[in-house]
Amino acid sequence: MSKKGLLIVLSGPSGVGKGTILKEFVNDPDLKLAYSVSMTTRKQRPGEVDGVNYHFVTKEEFERAKANGELLESAEFVGNYYGTPVKEVERLRKEGKNVLLEIEVQGCKQVRAKVPDALTIFIVPPSMEELEKRIRGRNTEPEEIVQERLAKASKEMEMVGQYKYVVCNDDAKLAANIIRVIIKRFMDANEE
Ligand code: 5GP
Repeated sequence: MSKKGLLIVLSGPSGVGKGTILKEFVNDPDLKLAYSVSMTTRKQRPGEVDGVNYHFVTKEEFERAKANGELLESAEFVGNYYGTPVKEVERLRKEGKNVLLEIEVQGCKQVRAKVPDALTIFIVPPSMEELEKRIRGRNTEPEEIVQERLAKASKEMEMVGQYKYVVCNDDAKLAANIIRVIIKRFMDANEE
């Protein structure tokens, strides 16, 4: 029987390029990954698909799921709620899939408390100036939200110490390759 899959947490400040890096390795068959689709109360952005990028829900639906113990972790981020549906994560891990959570720092803290052997990876930008450029480049949000995300990013960077690995996103392909190597190593250790 195959072993239970790994739980992998990927965090990093808003705009650091988590999505771009993720796309580079998420479909690598050797990594046997499954992306956990979070629940959020945030508004759907253009191009996002309900059930693929997020499960977009109302605040009431989110609160109900949380009260019913359906979330592995949850957090408020810039005025919206985000959470990881636990049932799906467990189902996939039991199938032997390595489940990938792309979540912020408070959520990671909760995951670490519940799953101490989770593989946690934090992505940092080459500089804070570069991060600001990337956040502004996205250009989908009003200035006050941009400011909030920047302030939040500085705060999040302070939490890097709670992660097992830190990877710099200077080059997305290189960062993805480094993450691939880290995951493979953990997969080998999980098989031993
Ligand atoms: P965005 O609104 O840009 O999609 O996401 C904002 C932040 O919420 C990002 O840092 C993202 O990693 C985080 N996030 C997404 N889903 C979850 C989740 O299920 N739980 C937690 N704690 N954070 C999440």
